[in-house]
Amino acid sequence: MCLFCKIVNNEIAANIELENDDFIAFHDINPKAPVHILAIPKLHVESFNEVSPDVMSGMSAFIQELTKRLGIDKSGYRVITNVGENGGQEVKHLHWHILGGSKLKWDHFCDADPKDFF
Ligand code: AMP
Repeated sequence: MCLFCKIVNNEIAANIELENDDFIAFHDINPKAPVHILAIPKLHVESFNEVSPDVMSGMSAFIQELTKRLGIDKSGYRVITNVGENGGQEVKHLHWHILGGSKLKWDHFCDADPKDFF
């Protein structure tokens, strides 16, 4: 069973911010911003590559509810999901990083030249 499935099953403790029948949101153990919450489907889905439109639809509503509850919906925030090796995905259970509570930076994603792919 993966790490986040263990959180869903209460086998590992987490600081839960919001939960419903299908999704759960908890504080990242190593926060990168004043607000850093992970939102996940309870269903094990490996990454964004495999997510269904149905789960995505519920996920969007859940994240919107979460950002309102946290009081960051108006000030702004970032939603990120890392996919696979180049995306830097460490936990192979779909999760969305919700980052906010301060002005976020947007620079230096990689060392490669952005003009090198296409
Ligand atoms: P990613 O690199 O996108 O797979 O992100 C995984 C995230 O999970 C990282 O930001 C970790 O800090 C976080 N993380 C790992 N273990 C735990 C845990 N037990 N509780 C909360 N967050 C965790």
